[in-house]
Parts: sequence; C-alpha cells; structure tokens
Amino acid sequence: MTSLLPALTDGPGERVALRFGERSLTYDGLAGAAGALAERIRGAGRVAVWATPELETAVAVTGALLAGVAAVPLNPKSGEKELAHILSDSAPSLVLAAPGTELPAAFGDLERLDVDASAVGGVPAEEFSDDDAALVVYTSGTTGPPKGAVIPRRALATTLDALADAWQWTAQDVLVHGLPLFHVHGLVLGILGPLRRGGSVRHLGRFSTEGVARELNDGATMLFGVPTMYHRIAETLPGDPELVKGLAGARLLVSGSAALPVHDHERIAAATGRRVIERYGMTETLMNTSVRADGEARAGTVGVPLPGVGLRLVEEDGSEVAGYDGETVGEIQVRGPNLFTEYLNRPDATAAAFTADGWFRTGDVAVREPDGYVRIVGRKATDLIKSGGYKIGAGEIENALLEHPGVREAAVTGEPDADLGERIVAWIVPVDPQSPPAAEELAGHVAARLAPHKRPRVVRYLDALPRNDMGKIMKRALVADA
Ligand code: ATP
Ligand code: MG
Repeated sequence: MTSLLPALTDGPGERVALRFGERSLTYDGLAGAAGALAERIRGAGRVAVWATPELETAVAVTGALLAGVAAVPLNPKSGEKELAHILSDSAPSLVLAAPGTELPAAFGDLERLDVDASAVGGVPAEEFSDDDAALVVYTSGTTGPPKGAVIPRRALATTLDALADAWQWTAQDVLVHGLPLFHVHGLVLGILGPLRRGGSVRHLGRFSTEGVARELNDGATMLFGVPTMYHRIAETLPGDPELVKGLAGARLLVSGSAALPVHDHERIAAATGRRVIERYGMTETLMNTSVRADGEARAGTVGVPLPGVGLRLVEEDGSEVAGYDGETVGEIQVRGPNLFTEYLNRPDATAAAFTADGWFRTGDVAVREPDGYVRIVGRKATDLIKSGGYKIGAGEIENALLEHPGVREAAVTGEPDADLGERIVAWIVPVDPQSPPAAEELAGHVAARLAPHKRPRVVRYLDALPRNDMGKIMKRALVADA
C-alpha cells in the first residue's frame, strides 16, 4: 500500500510540521523522532498514548503508524473509572507518554515508554495492509459507556483525502488547533490531516480567543473548532478588532463534533464577513459530510456527502427517504471506505450497528434539503421528541431559544407526558441569573418563531449545562438529574 504520511520521507523537509507553544518539529525532525520510536515499539500489540496536548503525543501516534502498531489515545482528564475501563478493554502492551508527566494509579504496573521528541531514527518502509488497525479511538460516551472503535489505515487515508478535496487543503495551509488529541477531531483531522498534506499545525495547548487571533494574524490559514469555541469567539468578537481581523483573513473556519448554533454562526458572519463551514462525522465513520470550501455555508447544515461516502436517510419503517424534500426525517446511514472495522470486544454492538445490507446506523436523524444539503435534526435517542403526534427536533428549538437576549445556553429534551406522549422541556442558562426570562416569555418566543406545538411546556434553569471535554451537552445527565 502507499504510505499514510508520505511527507515524512519525500516532503518539505525543513518546513515546520508541528508547533506546540515554544516547541516545534520540522518534517525532518518529526521523521527522525517518530522513526526512532517506531524502531522501539515495532511488534508491540497495541500501545496506549497518554494524549496530553503536547508535541510528544503527535510523535507517539506518528511513530505507532510507522511501526504498524495500533495506538489507543487516552484522555488525560478521564476519571479513574473510565480510564480503568478503557485500559482493561484495550489491553495495551505499554503506554507512551511525554517525559515528566505523571500517570494515574489506574495504569498499575503497565510498562511506560517516554517519548523523545528529539530522537533521530530512520523512517521504516510502511508495509502494511489497508485493513490493518491504525487507531482504536473511544467514542465520547455521550449516549453510553465509551466504545473502542477500531479504525483501519484505509479509513484514515480516505477520509483525509476526501477532506482535502472538499476543503482544497494543501501543503501551504497552516492550521490553528486548540482541541484535545484523544478524539478523531483533534487527532485525525487536526494532526494527521496537516501531516498527510505536508502542511503545518500550530497547537495552542489550551484554546483561547487570544491565541486564535494571534495565529490567524500571523500566517495561519485554517481554524478547526467545536461549537463551544465558536460560541466564545462569537461572544468576544464585538470588543476584539484583532480577532475580527484574524477571522476575516482566514481561508477556512471549520466546526464539528456537535451542532453549531445558528445564532453563533450568524453573529460570526455579521462581524467578520466569514461563514463557518460545518462538517459531520463520528468516531466510527470519521467524516461523512461537509460544506465544501467553494460551496455555500448555510447555517444549520452540514453540507453534502464527502467523495466516496454513501449516505441515505431511512424512516422508522425501514424505507429509504426518496428525493430531497427538506422535511422527511430519517436516520442517517452511511457506508464507504471511511468506516471503522468493529467495536473492540463488542461483537454485539458491532452487529447491531450495521443493517443487513451493510450500512452503518449512525443514530443521528436528519432531513435533506432540495439541493442535497444534510440538515441534522439530532440524535434519534435524545433529540427527537414525539409530542402531540408530531416529531420535533430539539435542535431547532434550541436555536430559537438561543436567539432570546436573556438566554446564554439552551438544551431541549422530552419527558413523558400523559396527554402529549412527551412534553418539551427547555433547560436554560440565563444571561442574568438574577432575572431569568420567564417560562411563558420563552414559550411565546419559540411559538412565534417556529410553531405553537414546538413551544417548551416546562422550563428549568441551571448555572451551566453538563458538557464533556469536547463541549458536547450530556443530555443523559440532564434527564437523570430531573
Ligand atoms: P457515544 O457514541 O459514546 O455516545 P458520541 O456519539 O458523542 O458518543 P463521537 O463519535 O465523538 O461520540 O461523536 C459523534 C456524534 O457527534 C455524531 O453521531 C453526531 O451526533 C455528533 N456530531 C458530530 N458532528 C456534528 C455536527 N456538525 N452537527 C451535529 N452533530 C454532530
Ligand atoms: Mg456515537
């Protein structure tokens, strides 16, 4: 097969591949460090990577790819219980970490290998099959305990090439990166993406709007973020001309991992003249759809299927939604070379995730607009509310609530109701906790924008919404707390 990271051997050599704060590695430097690591771990079973936002994490994963050893990135903020689950489930033969980082007790006496980012070794020829496991990435655990998705080399190569096509992504691009490195977004798109193209990454260590402004005004061309980051940007823009200038001059602003609220999309567009592009993906499928760089970035949509990705919407009775009417809701099912192989140790979950004819059930529901754009309604399990004979998507109600000047954050769920089947519940973080907007006021606000049956029947006020490390709202926790 062809190399996953050709730029390591016949690429830009002296160009900076990775920069984390003050520390950086050129392509030659990365090839040396990853090559040296590959020599040491070749033949190991699976290796865990303690994925701190540092240079060593990128070197560790690159080294594992060169050695043909599957890497299991671990969230350095995970709780002991989750960590213990992932370690026993993935059974790594050793753990790679940056020198000096302390590992929690859950690692027991697992062998540790410190990653040396200044080592110099040769890059071995990559003689692996496309089917070989490159990564085992655990899902975010939004809907249940995290599952280990086994991601083959083929999926990495095809998803990154499909994104390069959609985003006109080249070796000249310099990415501003402020995401964690243990999920697909931060690791596959944010690190392996630029490395496959021969471009550069500048990681902020920790996301900040100052960091984004600084890098975009200093030659960076792209920004990848999750919606909570774009929310911070939208809030900061009015008083920050440097940030406005940086965003206005960027080639590409991309959001993913959760829905970008329409309100934030519009505020950023109004302040900078730039529209954020949304893409839609999952741990199991890598990237499925995106707005294309030369396409129309329409708020609330995630664009069209990427090259090579088959996508269909399927109704509850199993029939495929025919045509693009912008209204009929169906589960998104996908197939293509971007898919994972299986959930580690979970043949039951793997079998349940695929239809008899081989399509992956995403568990997300959507409509397709007349021009083929996908508009995600939400997750089948938590975001589709069946109330009074209607199927109502939580997302559009959340978007309407966020337009109310008294609302800072909003989440919508359904709960059992004797009359309606389910009633709509709005969870609100008010701008001013001393005088939150009243329930009737919010119900009227939604009814006027959407339709009367979409108004929340119950409003609950919170100081903050429960979110995971990617900023995703944990609706399970909300409902459990009720
Ligand atoms: P788990 O599978 O463990 O419950 P998770 O589904 O949150 O957790 P991920 O694989 O990290 O784990 O996230 C994929 C999900 O994120 C998708 O199924 C979808 O619901 C959501 N998502 C990703 N991108 C977008 C987007 N642009 N708009 C809306 N939702 C998105
Ligand atoms: Mg999932």
